[in-house]
Amino acid sequence: MRLKDIRLAAVCAAMLAVALPGAHAAPCMTVTVTGAQGGPQAYQGQAGPGTLVRYGDDANNCNAVRLQFDIGRSTILRLSQLGIQSAQVGAVFITHLHNDHSEGLAELLQHRWMIFPKSPKLDVVCSDDVQAPLGFTMSCKKFVAHIADNAIQSGEIAQRLAENKERDAAGPSAKANVVTFAARNEPQTVWTSGDVKVSAIRSTHIPGHASYRVDTPAGSVVIGGDAGNDKFAPPRDSSTSAQVELLAKGADVIVHSTIHPAMGPDRDSGMPPPIFFRQSNASDLGAMAQRAGTKHLVLTHLIPPPGAASQGVWKVPGGALSEADYRKAAADGGFKGQVLVAKDLLSLRLPAK
Ligand SMILES: [Zn+2]
Repeated sequence: MRLKDIRLAAVCAAMLAVALPGAHAAPCMTVTVTGAQGGPQAYQGQAGPGTLVRYGDDANNCNAVRLQFDIGRSTILRLSQLGIQSAQVGAVFITHLHNDHSEGLAELLQHRWMIFPKSPKLDVVCSDDVQAPLGFTMSCKKFVAHIADNAIQSGEIAQRLAENKERDAAGPSAKANVVTFAARNEPQTVWTSGDVKVSAIRSTHIPGHASYRVDTPAGSVVIGGDAGNDKFAPPRDSSTSAQVELLAKGADVIVHSTIHPAMGPDRDSGMPPPIFFRQSNASDLGAMAQRAGTKHLVLTHLIPPPGAASQGVWKVPGGALSEADYRKAAADGGFKGQVLVAKDLLSLRLPAK
């Protein structure tokens, strides 16, 4: 081919790509930590736990579907840093009803109700009501139904309705479509959209805890939440969840809440053993990720945060830990893949660019 012909062929190819948007666009996904804080403690401005999974293709910068897994304190601010408004979130999935994992839903729903009154309802996916052995009931349905009760009681909702009749009279909870499932010990599909499938499995932390997996043509990610072992304390094979391991078989990425072994009762952190033992520790997570065949392990919800001399009232034995301490702990468990120690907005793209 002569140079002129080569140039012409290149121009034609470029025109074809413009004429058929997406014709050559490869599927891709990004996994972004929206909040790396572990527990309700506040440290250095970190947002509460959450992971945003975006899926699309090269043409839309992997940003056609946006799914939020857990929605801790200030998630809405991290989303705004990514250019995402409340009405652009496709669905929210909640692992459990501890406030650190769920309190950001109130902000998101009120924002969506107030600023985008005509936006569609937001799917909020979580476990069915579960009665705990101690008698109380964990209810995601009630959590959402009452999400703005304080603003209803204060008169704010009535005031905002008076200034804009497009807003739903029932208030911010009306912007949610709650989708619940009976969490089981085997994976089950709980939400789909096009090529994206989300499945869930029951896992142990508090009653109603569930872990999630997203499968797309670009890759797969498991969000473990605060899952721990069904056996609450040693002796046991691992601090990690057998169900999460089943869910994670062959997944590209695991994002998981992490406690560092240094906080254990064999040291002098002062943390009550049941609180330590109900989290998965970094070394056991490394071992689990290796067994599951995972390529990337994202350690998040770090207890304690790197650089912190304490986790709330509990001190870190031997002084603050570093990110390298977390990577080492995961490697000590036998993990050979990539360990990412989360900070707010840490992001991973599949496939890598
Ligand atoms: Zn937590």
